[in-house]
Amino acid sequence: MSQVAIPAATALLENAKPLQHKAFAGKMFIDGQWKDAASGARFERSSPAHGQVVSSFPEATGEDVEAAIHAADVAFKKGPWPRMKGVERARALLVVAEGIKARVEEMSLLESLETGKPLTQARGEVSGCVDLWQYAASLARTTSGDAYDSLGEDMLGIVLRQPIGVVGLITPWNFPIWILSQKLPFALAAGCTCVIKPSELTSSTTVILAEIIEQAGVPKGVVNVVTGKGPTVGQPLAEHPAIGMLSFTGSTRVGGLLGGIASKQLKKVALELGGKNPQIVFPDCDWDAMVDAVVFGVYFNAGECCNSGSRVLVHESIAEKFAQAVVERAQQVPVGDPLHPDTKIGAIVSENQLGEILANIDKGIAAGARVRLGGKRYDAKGLYLEPTIISDVTPEMSIARDEIFGPVLSIVTFKDVEGAIEIANDSAYGLSAAVWSNDINTCLTVARGVDAGTVWVNTFLDGYPELPFGGFKSSGVGRELGKQAVEDYTETKTIQLHIGARKNWWLPQSTK
Ligand code: NDP
Repeated sequence: MSQVAIPAATALLENAKPLQHKAFAGKMFIDGQWKDAASGARFERSSPAHGQVVSSFPEATGEDVEAAIHAADVAFKKGPWPRMKGVERARALLVVAEGIKARVEEMSLLESLETGKPLTQARGEVSGCVDLWQYAASLARTTSGDAYDSLGEDMLGIVLRQPIGVVGLITPWNFPIWILSQKLPFALAAGCTCVIKPSELTSSTTVILAEIIEQAGVPKGVVNVVTGKGPTVGQPLAEHPAIGMLSFTGSTRVGGLLGGIASKQLKKVALELGGKNPQIVFPDCDWDAMVDAVVFGVYFNAGECCNSGSRVLVHESIAEKFAQAVVERAQQVPVGDPLHPDTKIGAIVSENQLGEILANIDKGIAAGARVRLGGKRYDAKGLYLEPTIISDVTPEMSIARDEIFGPVLSIVTFKDVEGAIEIANDSAYGLSAAVWSNDINTCLTVARGVDAGTVWVNTFLDGYPELPFGGFKSSGVGRELGKQAVEDYTETKTIQLHIGARKNWWLPQSTK
């Protein structure tokens, strides 16, 4: 089968309407006040789908970062937030959750315009954040330390969990409000104060969230937002000695840089980085469900997703049937204006990202892989890329190893269960994986054998706040969500309480 055309895309792209949108003019939120940058500079963000300016923000420098960290430091050392009862922090988080609910439409539109993702999908993500804030509120009441009554008659051990201090949160552009909500409410539930730096490409919903937090009555200085560029805002934030912990989601390159800074300063760091996540397909799987999940797994969010199922390992006996089935299904997926209700794949976030994706496809072709679908930019206004499927990929090719972060599926074959696990694990990454089979033994063997923080069995990309999320190897350090999510933003303190008279150390053993 040779490369085929992509009919689903054309109508939605050709009929895209000009954008009617008044640009959102954001400010920074520092010490409870709405601020411009000390320099007065601002930067703009244009919609990658429409090429029109949709938002603008102050362009912070080190001076603004310093002011935000100072506010968070004072709020931590002297303010009420870390000293409040858990139930009071929980109530505030629940008010924020309601505030998000009330502004879903406004936030989803800005999220869609800035990222290029479908508006219908953005609505799901913004609404989903409500649950993250509510779950964090429940943990604000239930996270606790420990007590040891087993240390002998004269000793009681108590382990306290205390907030770690000022936390720096650096977030990416692919799921701006969702990824922030995997971090911020849990840090707040612990009693920490925070300085947030959103991606310069997608700052709107973070600024709106700060408005919601202000309206919820969270004390000044507890949450601060600085807008601007990675090296000029993110890096000074990470390097500042008053930052007790850094939580970052983004590229492995910047994650490594920040991890280095943190380890030099001996500060805690949580890193959620990339993935090259294998979906492993066996011949005895539920075929239709698998094909749908493969297409969903790689094209959701245009593949700009750390959990993207960008690498499919398929049993060699069904490789051709599989390639034909996914090509056929992928052709049906509507690509188009993110604001159109039928669109499933929107625009790529930036010209830079689009160029990187195309360069990765070219590397695959040069190495001998075969493009079965797509592989090119659409001839349309906006940053759109054809859904792409590449077969004849071998495990050593860069297209099977590097995170592409675009709508590009690489198909690799395997011979047996052991071989599949070996290929799956021959990767620098270990974020997630999936296994498709109706044989429980196959599923359990793969699930236990693959190096991945999450393994889906006969499903893909499901997620729940109750379940921890994070990666093995170069996919990151630490876990988000789950019942330990608040604990990650705490330090433990051991208190040893002696009961009764303490025996004198200096007395000879015979007299004790
Ligand atoms: P980055 O890692 O550069 O961006 C993530 C965040 O880090 C952004 O807020 C960014 O700010 C900030 N940042 C950038 N440089 C620094 C720095 N020196 N110090 C502190 N903070 C910094 O990702 P890119 O946007 O460049 O995307 C490149 C690749 O990264 C993608 O192709 C993809 O492979 C991966 N990625 C992975 C994500 C994930 O979910 N794991 C999310 C996004 C990207 P700003 O945007 O303002 O520059």
